[in-house]
Amino acid sequence: MRPNSGYAGSDDRARAMAAPIPLGSTVPRMAVDRELVDAAIELARTRFPGQHWSGAAALRLDDGAVLTSTAPGVPNSAVSLCHETGAICEAFKRGRRVVASVCVTAADADRGYWILAPCGVCQERLFAYGPDVEVAVPEPENPRRWRTLRLRDVQPYWFARVFPDDVWPFESG
Ligand SMILES: [Zn+2]
Repeated sequence: MRPNSGYAGSDDRARAMAAPIPLGSTVPRMAVDRELVDAAIELARTRFPGQHWSGAAALRLDDGAVLTSTAPGVPNSAVSLCHETGAICEAFKRGRRVVASVCVTAADADRGYWILAPCGVCQERLFAYGPDVEVAVPEPENPRRWRTLRLRDVQPYWFARVFPDDVWPFESG
């Protein structure tokens, strides 16, 4: 069984498995799962060992492949990239569809990782793969836990829905 919610840290895995929280998705196969979250955490840990601030993203493709990426630091934060960007570009290079996305950042005092919902820009990037792309979002009361939402649930008023002949323009792809 693939859980659709859980903790972003190995210490809490058992509790997460005991209390899955389904919400907001009717997609039978959950593309966001522990493997995807752990892939993002693993990259953050190995790429930035011992650093209090670290983060990374992991994407699942329609062929099951998991891509990870992280954002380089730049002198001018106005041109910085999101952690998801590299994996989104790699998916495009491979000609595959993105079906799920997770982003994590280190929590305070080495207490695991928080789940970050995709920013508005990354939501637009992910909408290229339709409104059913699954994304991890943090539980409000504990950002180390995640739940899975589809983009259509994250943005029920997505701007392109206003076009009457093309409600979800990328849905058929
Ligand atoms: Zn972003």
